[in-house]
Amino acid sequence: MRCRKCGGKAVINMPQHRLALCKEHYLAWLPEQTERFIKKYRMFTRAEKVLVAVSGGKDSLSLWDILHRLGYQADGLYIALGIDGGVNYSAESQRLTEKFAAERGLTLHVVDVRAETGKTIPEWAEATWRGREKPCAVCGLVKRHEMNRIARDLGYDVLATGHNLDDEAAVLFGNTLAWAGEYLLRQGPVLEERGGLARKVKPLCRFYEREMAAYALLRGIEYIYEECPFSAGATSLYYKELLNRLENDRPGTKLAFYLNFLEARRAGLFAERSEVQQALHPCPGCGQPTSAPGLCSYCRMIEKGRDSQV
Ligand code: SF4
Ligand code: ZN
Ligand code: ZN
Repeated sequence: MRCRKCGGKAVINMPQHRLALCKEHYLAWLPEQTERFIKKYRMFTRAEKVLVAVSGGKDSLSLWDILHRLGYQADGLYIALGIDGGVNYSAESQRLTEKFAAERGLTLHVVDVRAETGKTIPEWAEATWRGREKPCAVCGLVKRHEMNRIARDLGYDVLATGHNLDDEAAVLFGNTLAWAGEYLLRQGPVLEERGGLARKVKPLCRFYEREMAAYALLRGIEYIYEECPFSAGATSLYYKELLNRLENDRPGTKLAFYLNFLEARRAGLFAERSEVQQALHPCPGCGQPTSAPGLCSYCRMIEKGRDSQV
């Protein structure tokens, strides 16, 4: 396989684009494409301050690397969840994230969940559900809450996450199986700011997972290989597997599934649902916007878990 641009040895083949590239041209192509998507979906401009949520994984670190190279004002936010799982998951991902930032002279904010709330994520899961459920629901709540709080307190215009096409297609697949209109309406490369919630963007949403892995590897980014120990058995992984089977037989299926969805949404397929979106009001506990009648779900979790001893 030869690079389409220079005829040199290709390191990656992307059948859905009928494109093979060498290392040098691939490392240039991916940021160029990212820039194109940032503009196409009007994610942010160079005048705006971007907060990148970094987990220490290949996607978020690559995103930060790309935005930095493209000349955007991008700082990082690492949320220390306190997850060990026998592989020292949080400690190791924090170490790699801090190393990445230090080597490039980038600004990284670190929020320690235990210091903020008195408990780690697994401890909160234990306190609220007696460990019956995986901590992912609690973890998602805390991450959303902290990302929005830091973005608001420190004056960032936009929050960027490293979700790739495989992530987005899996979520879309799940929401489509359930015909979850409200979720479908809110899925996309950009979630506009509303009622005190920062604008959220996913600049990598059109890249396959393998493309991001190749970028991180070729760029020499040191990232944590282990997945969070709690991700094992997640439904989203099962959906990813199914979609990979479709993709194997028909290259481009995943991308078409996602892009055709965006087109249908743009054409108003889910439009009437937007009118029933609930209004947001500030939570009496933390002041962040919520559509719940009283306290927001984050504050309710804190309330529920506060008194139990772990
Ligand atoms: Fe949090 Fe679950 Fe993701 Fe682990 S797999 S980081 S617990 S949401
Ligand atoms: Zn080339
Ligand atoms: Zn609240």
